Amino acid sequence: MAILFQKEVPEKGSYDIVVAGGGVAGAAAALAGARAGKTVLLLEKSTMLGGLATLGLINYFVPMCNGRGVQIIKGMAEEFLRLSIKNGYDTLPEEWRDGEPTEPTNVRYVTKYSATIFALELLNLLHNEGVDVLFDTVVAEPVMDGAACKGVICENKSGLEFYAAKMLVDATGDADLLYRAGVPTVQGRNFHTYVAHGANLQSCKLAVDTENIAKLYVQYSGGGASLYGDRHPEGMAYYTGTSSEDVNTYFVRNQIECLQKIEGDERTSRDITVLPGMAQFRTTRRIDGDYTLKNSDMFRHFDDSIAAVNDFDRRDFLYEVPYRTMIKSGYPNLITAGRTVAGEEYAWDILRVIPPAILTGQAAGNAAALAIDEGCGIDAVPVAKLQKILADQNVMIHFDDALINWDADPGRVDDNGHF
Ligand SMILES: Cc1cc2nc3c(=O)[nH]c(=O)nc-3n(C[C@H](O)[C@H](O)[C@H](O)COP(=O)(O)OP(=O)(O)OC[C@H]3O[C@@H](n4cnc5c(N)ncnc54)[C@H](O)[C@@H]3O)c2cc1C
Repeated sequence: MAILFQKEVPEKGSYDIVVAGGGVAGAAAALAGARAGKTVLLLEKSTMLGGLATLGLINYFVPMCNGRGVQIIKGMAEEFLRLSIKNGYDTLPEEWRDGEPTEPTNVRYVTKYSATIFALELLNLLHNEGVDVLFDTVVAEPVMDGAACKGVICENKSGLEFYAAKMLVDATGDADLLYRAGVPTVQGRNFHTYVAHGANLQSCKLAVDTENIAKLYVQYSGGGASLYGDRHPEGMAYYTGTSSEDVNTYFVRNQIECLQKIEGDERTSRDITVLPGMAQFRTTRRIDGDYTLKNSDMFRHFDDSIAAVNDFDRRDFLYEVPYRTMIKSGYPNLITAGRTVAGEEYAWDILRVIPPAILTGQAAGNAAALAIDEGCGIDAVPVAKLQKILADQNVMIHFDDALINWDADPGRVDDNGHF
């Protein structure tokens, strides 16, 4: 049974670029669009920027180097990493404190950061650079004219509102906008993982002894499955994260398990200070893009690369991200960025983590602005021009062949990209 629902919705604004979702990818896309001189509206359903990287308590920039001392991931990912620790703690290795090391090193370029301070910094940055940020606003439905999207219907305290846009970036992490616009998408799978943050008396003492607040935090878990699915309960279905039932089951089960795990501890010896404010799903839904990156694409150059990225878990492995992983031909003003770009199996993992998500966001914002300037569809932007713009913004477009190591350790990933 279904009902037909009709309502007149006020148009609250009209923008060059509307970005749905204010995670790191959406923040980067919005910033890039604004820096290119466009009017940009960023719509975020929660009450802070950063998505999984802040609200989701995933406060760790995975490696941005090749594991031999060469920085691969730069551009806005470098800018955001430095921003995340500007006024908050870090765990940056000494070798990378002042930029790329002059000597080769196996120490990787990583850091933890304060999730909340990073969220504040992101808002401050976007606000100062002219992005309109609208919190507590869910992007509900695209309004389509054939394959072109005229704008989005949103739901917030004011009720339903319409925002018109020339170009739209889906940075929802779940490809909600694309899916509802009819763009082909692919479903992922997710293990039983749930991490909360807290402190205990030992960690407090360590923080005081070392005079470093970074030592204060410890993790509490509900479901404790790893990236590779270790400890995923036997027989339990994987989460898709794309239905309300699935998301709700995830929260109910994990929050109860989280409580069960601390029962029996001395209750005055520790506290859980914050629960994740969004589901910690890695791969829910992504675009079925014009190209799908494969694990076997390691060390492969692409003519339409918008960024070189390194594997976060395996030293030496390098990839390039084709522009085609972010678009679907035939949809002239929809593009995606972040954990929704097209990669298969482990290659999806390569693309979705924080630094590459920022780079695809940066590319999406620039591509949207370029499409407006060129008067073309987002599926027809002159890629050479986009590459030049990104290179001028310090993005490495192609990796140097001298960095290729065909004998690199494949770790737990097999030839087909499975683990
Ligand atoms: C358990 C786990 C561990 C991880 N560990 C690491 C790690 O250690 N290091 C690392 O670099 N990466 C890690 N990642 C991956 C990384 O955190 C994410 O892939 C990355 O942050 C994704 O960014 P995003 O901007 O694409 O999406 P998201 O962070 O998902 O942001 C999407 C944003 O869109 C908003 N949104 C969604 N739907 C709507 C809507 N309809 N309307 C309005 N707003 C909407 C959300 O509220 C959110 O703010 C991990 C992920 C998980 C789940």
